[in-house]
Amino acid sequence: MSQRPAPDPLTPGPRVLVVEDDEQLATMLSALLVDEGYAVDVARDGQRGLHLGLSGRYDVMLIDRGLPAIEGVDLVRRLRNQGVTAPVLVLTARGTAADRVEGLDAGAEDYLVKPFDVDELLARLRALLRRHREDSDELDLGVRRLVVASRTVVEDGGPDVVLSGRECELLLVLARRPGRVFGRDELLRRVFDDADTTGSVDTYVHYLRRKLGREVVHTVRGSGYRMGSA
Ligand code: CA
Repeated sequence: MSQRPAPDPLTPGPRVLVVEDDEQLATMLSALLVDEGYAVDVARDGQRGLHLGLSGRYDVMLIDRGLPAIEGVDLVRRLRNQGVTAPVLVLTARGTAADRVEGLDAGAEDYLVKPFDVDELLARLRALLRRHREDSDELDLGVRRLVVASRTVVEDGGPDVVLSGRECELLLVLARRPGRVFGRDELLRRVFDDADTTGSVDTYVHYLRRKLGREVVHTVRGSGYRMGSA
C-alpha cells in the first residue's frame, strides 16, 4: 500500500459509506480507507446506514451483513428500492452460496467473506468504482455538460446536485436524446409506469428545473418536453 502516491488533498477522493457494527473493524476500515484517499462516513447500524445511504452522496458502499436495526441484505434492498445506484460490497461472516446469492439478489455488486485481506478489499472497491464511473452518463446539452452518476449531477463550476430516483430517470430519458421532443404520455410510460396522471410529468419537470435551472428542460407547446436545442 505504501507505494501508492499520497492522495492529492485538493481533489476530493471517492466517497464511501461504511456500515459496520463491530467497533474495532469499523475503526480499522475507516483508517484504512482514509489512508487510501477516500472520504469516509461510518454508520454503526442499519437504520443510520439507510439514512446516510439515501442522501445519495456516496460513490461506493461497504455494508456488513449482520447489523442491528436493519440487517445488511435488507438495507441493500431498501437502498435499491429507493433508487440508490451506488455500488455495494457486502461483508459477511458466512460464505455459503445461498448467502452470496441472497446478497447479490438484493442488489449488491460484490461480496467478501470475513476475515478478508485488506488489499483484496481495496482492489474490489477500486474495481467497483471504475465500473460505476464507466456507467455514468455524460450529457451534452449544448451549452451545458452534465455528468450523472449515483443520482448526482456534477457540472463544472457548479455545486453537485442530488436527484431523487424519479427525477434522475426523467433527466436521463430526456437527455440521452437531446433535441427530441417527448410527449407527456410517452414520459409517463417510460418513467412513471405506476402513476396514473400526466400531471406527475409536469411536477417532476418542475423539480428538475428547480434543481438544475429553468432552461434545462424546454416546454414544446402542445407536444411535451425536450432537452438541448431542437
Ligand atoms: Ca456485524
